[in-house]
Amino acid sequence: AGIINFCANNYLGLSSHPEVIRAAVEALEKFGAGLSSVRFICGTQSIYQDLEEKIARFHQREDAILYASCFDANAGIFEALLTPEDAVLSDELNHASIIDGIRLCKANKYRYKHMDMQDLEAKLKEAQKHRLRLVATDGAFSMDGDIAPLREICQLAQKYDALVFIDECHATGFLGPNGRGTDELLGVMDKVTIINSTLGKALGGAAGGYTTGPKPLIDLLRQRSRPYLFSNSLPPAVVGCASKALDLLMESNAIAQSMAAKTQRFRSKMTAAGFTISGKDHPICPVMLGDARLASVMAEDMLNRGIYVIGFSYPVVPKGKARIRVQISAVHSDEDIDRCVEAFTEVGRKHGAL
Ligand code: PLP
Repeated sequence: AGIINFCANNYLGLSSHPEVIRAAVEALEKFGAGLSSVRFICGTQSIYQDLEEKIARFHQREDAILYASCFDANAGIFEALLTPEDAVLSDELNHASIIDGIRLCKANKYRYKHMDMQDLEAKLKEAQKHRLRLVATDGAFSMDGDIAPLREICQLAQKYDALVFIDECHATGFLGPNGRGTDELLGVMDKVTIINSTLGKALGGAAGGYTTGPKPLIDLLRQRSRPYLFSNSLPPAVVGCASKALDLLMESNAIAQSMAAKTQRFRSKMTAAGFTISGKDHPICPVMLGDARLASVMAEDMLNRGIYVIGFSYPVVPKGKARIRVQISAVHSDEDIDRCVEAFTEVGRKHGAL
């Protein structure tokens, strides 16, 4: 009671949006609890195809394919696309699901230093001997709230004849002027070849993931991607939620703008109070504290003041870089944001962080 959640990926607040909930109930009533099948047997109904078409339209891509999660989308893509003659170049801080997906494929693996373009260029030069090169990066990195330098990545990809893959789980729905993601924010929508993202964060928060990109790639995934071929279709209610969330975002970017304004309010007030907030403009606002114990006791004390946040320390983040990761949502009111900043200021003073 009276506790405000500041640690969910519910960036746009759509998981409690009445129209999203109604769409889920309607889909449940019309299509049942589930399909009891994978997609290619009897698990495809019109709502799945409509959602895939909508996802492709939202991202301005040719086609899209749904998965049970983005973890599955990442697990399925590299193995289906890359052969032992190819190469994949991956940012060292990419999400665990990208790392696992890459482990499953037989391509030659290169890991470049986090967002380090010199290192990426060196690895691209080394990888020229392979048939095909794929650069893989998170669009926005969830631990630091920092954004991949996609413009530079795409320039290098062009220079060294590589494809670009981005994971947009922490970008879809709210980054860029129309919420299309990091590629829109950085003006490279026509240069990024493949996007994987989730329906389980900003787009209603239920579950599900997808790949969107060129039609021949999506056709290939439908034939070869193991998590797609061998796992159940998404529950209709989940499809209904995501489909409505996308409708709302394509009608207007007001929700995303409201979240951006609240992010700005939080970041500027916290900085003025004396805290260091990592990243820039992103609703992931890591309050950098350094010491693991400090992060943990401060998070506990925040909860006592009605603010739900979580401390992150080694091995989730590097040693000496413990933090409390705050995530802003469009459903937070300005008063909620101010209450959070006040609680941080009190707790920070009490524990000597300020
Ligand atoms: N990629 C990134 C960057 C994520 O943060 C996550 C979720 O934590 C995933 C992939 C997996 O998404 P899902 O929950 O849809 O499996």
